[in-house]
Amino acid sequence: MNEVKRPKKTLAYFYCIAAILLMLFNLFVMPKLSDQQVKTVDYGTFMSMTEEGDIGLVDITSNRIIFTNKDETEFYRTGLMDDPNLTERLYKAGAEFSSEIIEEQSPLVTMLLSWVIPVVLFVAVGQFLSRQMMNKAGGGPGSLMFNMGKSNAKIYVKSSEGIKFTDVAGVDEAEESLSEIVDYLHDPSKYKDIGASMPKGILLVGPPGTGKTLLAKAVAGEANVPFFSISGSEFVEMFVGMGASKVRDLFRQAKEKAPCIVFIDEIDAIGKKRGGQYGGNDEREQTLNQLLTEMDGFESNNGVIILAATNQPESLDPALTRPGRFDRRVPVELPDLKGREEILEVHGKKFKLEDTVDFAKIARMASGASGAELANILNEAALRAVRDGRSLVSQKDLEESIEVVIAGYQKKNAILTDEEKKIVAYHEIGHALVAAMQSHSAPVEKITIVPRTSGALGYTMQVEEGNHYLMSKEEIENKIATFTGGRAAEELVFGSVTTGAANDIEQATKLARAMITRYGMSEDFDMVAMETVTNQYLGGDTSLTCSAETQTEIDRQVVALVKKQHEKASRILRENRAKLDELAENLYANETITGEEFMAILNAKEEPEKKLVSL
Ligand code: ADP
Ligand code: MG
Ligand code: ZN
Repeated sequence: MNEVKRPKKTLAYFYCIAAILLMLFNLFVMPKLSDQQVKTVDYGTFMSMTEEGDIGLVDITSNRIIFTNKDETEFYRTGLMDDPNLTERLYKAGAEFSSEIIEEQSPLVTMLLSWVIPVVLFVAVGQFLSRQMMNKAGGGPGSLMFNMGKSNAKIYVKSSEGIKFTDVAGVDEAEESLSEIVDYLHDPSKYKDIGASMPKGILLVGPPGTGKTLLAKAVAGEANVPFFSISGSEFVEMFVGMGASKVRDLFRQAKEKAPCIVFIDEIDAIGKKRGGQYGGNDEREQTLNQLLTEMDGFESNNGVIILAATNQPESLDPALTRPGRFDRRVPVELPDLKGREEILEVHGKKFKLEDTVDFAKIARMASGASGAELANILNEAALRAVRDGRSLVSQKDLEESIEVVIAGYQKKNAILTDEEKKIVAYHEIGHALVAAMQSHSAPVEKITIVPRTSGALGYTMQVEEGNHYLMSKEEIENKIATFTGGRAAEELVFGSVTTGAANDIEQATKLARAMITRYGMSEDFDMVAMETVTNQYLGGDTSLTCSAETQTEIDRQVVALVKKQHEKASRILRENRAKLDELAENLYANETITGEEFMAILNAKEEPEKKLVSL
């Protein structure tokens, strides 16, 4: 309906503008055109030209005089004055009297020229243009104005990208859930026989880069049905109602093509909770309402299945996530150790690797990395190999590329003073030694004091042996102690402190705060949550949910907790001062030491000393 009306409206606009243009044309352009040939001068000029004998032709009528110069190159016009001897003087000056110097247009012709012809022209052009636009609108894509209400969902042709479930790794649960859908689309009868119906909608939720979009593409690759893919932001339009009409169009197309899959990526762009505090957003709310209506409007067995992905599930409107719309929520979490190894293997197929490459170790080092980051690590490693002129990717390339992802590139021209380098060496060994001297902390993998582009002057890499799902209070405390170890070493050895501990301080505080406000690990608060996580998958921001007095108390406890661990770290380092010195000297000389070297030095020194003491 809308689309039929719209052309008329735009034509009316067009005529309005044409009329305005026409008036402007008559006001400014036309007078200039007719004045071009005939100059209007005052009577004085005429008289002086007559006296000088510079008059060629002249024509006098009842209200004006038209004349030319002697050469008849210029045309002039002037008014008529009461001048009795004019004719005589002109005759004497040698002027030639003529009644046809210029052709004067009759009023009718003027009228025709300035009003009727332009109007006819404008109308003709207008008709032509509008016909042109109508043709395009009818003929398919390409017209700007008439295409606005159409959804531009791409239909994936089967295997256009060739992505299959085998290209996705480490998210087995999600894969299982989705392969059921594929199976249903292939053979609905076995589900229908038992009375089961497929979920109408499936929501993939998880942090960025875990493979949500990839999974949806794999479903498209596996299922032999049309696959409509559209991003939530594509529904967002400038005009109220356009998004809603796109939704309508998308579902109309989907129903025609059923059985099929509709994939809405980043659905949070349209699915945000309605009735926000800032007066709401009409266009978005209408789009969402339309989506809700459409999802209610079809039977769950008609073969249209909706997949959607988001990394902000908590911001979605509850009406959207309720059963009956998105019945099933499939978490796509960060991969665990085994998952990371599998992802590395899947992506590793694309690269030429040396035989010594050990993905298990890389996976262990890259704890917390998402699928996208792992793919990136592999690519960085390959780039590094090319840079060095090698044709195979080595284990070292991969390890270095993890460090690049964690800490940035090695800074080639950063020159630390001797004193600074010494401080950094002690700082890093401080972390490593505190970690090694406590039970339940991850083994040290590598310590380096090569400056990085991220600004880190050095770092200590600890790598967990396996998966870690739970953390005890003691483990977190040890972690905090390890963070404070760097600063503790500086204090112990140099008696002063540096800015180098900024990042350690931030992390230690974060952990201590979480212990008290979220994990119930403080003495007085028992199991009361003082903070809630508002943004689970995007950074994990928190918001306080307690009174101002409690906040003060929380702050006090956080300080006390960190202080206690800082003291513990200082004690450990004091007790192992000899090892601290030896290790720091070693690191200072070599710039990088591996976990094994570190442990070797630590243990070698320990034995003889103990023996000495026991003797
Ligand atoms: P998002 O979850 O943010 O939609 P994508 O699906 O777009 O993430 O993933 C981006 C890229 O990361 C993919 O193209 C793929 O190369 C890689 N990737 C992410 N997760 C996985 C996974 N589980 N298995 C294999 N590759 C993955
Ligand atoms: Mg995505
Ligand atoms: Zn540090």
